[in-house]
Amino acid sequence: MSQESSERTDPPDRREGDLTRTGMALKHDREWDYELDRIVAEVDERGAETVGLQFPEGLKRRGPRVADDLRAELPDGVTVMMSGQPCYGACDLDTDLLRRTDVFVHFGHSPMKESEKIIYVPLFSNVDVFPIMERAATEELAPAEDDPDVGLVTTAQHMNKFDEMRAWLEDRGYTVHVRKGDDRLTHEGQVLGCNYASADVDAEQILYVGGGKFHPLGLAMEHPDTQVVIADPVNNAVSVADTEQFMKQRYAAVHKAMDAEEWGVIFCTKIGQGRWDQAREIVENDDAYLITMDEITPDRLTNFGLDAYVNTGCPRITTDDGPQFKQPMLTPQEYRIAVGEEPLEALEFDTFHGTW
Ligand code: SF4
Repeated sequence: MSQESSERTDPPDRREGDLTRTGMALKHDREWDYELDRIVAEVDERGAETVGLQFPEGLKRRGPRVADDLRAELPDGVTVMMSGQPCYGACDLDTDLLRRTDVFVHFGHSPMKESEKIIYVPLFSNVDVFPIMERAATEELAPAEDDPDVGLVTTAQHMNKFDEMRAWLEDRGYTVHVRKGDDRLTHEGQVLGCNYASADVDAEQILYVGGGKFHPLGLAMEHPDTQVVIADPVNNAVSVADTEQFMKQRYAAVHKAMDAEEWGVIFCTKIGQGRWDQAREIVENDDAYLITMDEITPDRLTNFGLDAYVNTGCPRITTDDGPQFKQPMLTPQEYRIAVGEEPLEALEFDTFHGTW
């Protein structure tokens, strides 16, 4: 057991989320609660001999330290393995490592589908969200006197603060509209890069609390008549989501693909990214070829030499990484537009519903 994780004192003036000296923080990282005690207890209860750890890309560098602290607490003879596969969501479980281990721990995402064998450790951020919400309310949200209705959404990392965020807005006179999306989402108010169903609320303004522009851009695309205000506590920035640049990029990709004679249709084999019906529908056309793959990268497609591709896997690969591909990479709906089955004006953000 590491020295720090053996200490159990709870300083009375500790801010919520501050894991220092709580026994939950890693020796090397005070920012996240890796729930080592829960993992150790599960290993013990199941008499596990093998433990698999899967981290999202941004936290992989913490992996060896998590393994250090776990190995210090686990009995001799328990083997700890880390997944080296890319991982961007709970849709992306390393199923091979899952099969090979008695206990499988997926860090950093909330469950897309519960399973007895998998321990999900969500890794909530301990960043203080309220100063940036204050700025967002002052600078961009309509005052409660003018428009009291506001939707509230956030990402899994800040979900532990969601009730406080809601109360904070209510204290300022807002009527806060929240809902749980579909079964791809675990929590009320949670959004994913591919699913904004929790924002289908009766409000003309939505406050998104979370890092970066990745999520709110999809949110604004999916809800074009709604003002999406971004309160980003990670980068300490407030802005309003603007989809213009994004739409231009998508129109350009569709136009470029209109001349394509042969199409590659990608079916993603990652457990939570497969849309078989959509892929099969497109390959009913003779000029389309079904390609199965897990990680979708430009290099992996080069040797097929096709004119354009349709991605039925993670929508963000198409929209965020699309420009890196040598040939146009379209969403299933953009394909229908490119081949003349739908008008260009119908273009929508590609969202993903359900699990597996
Ligand atoms: S499919 Fe959805 S949940 Fe999975 S990585 Fe892509 S955006 Fe995230």
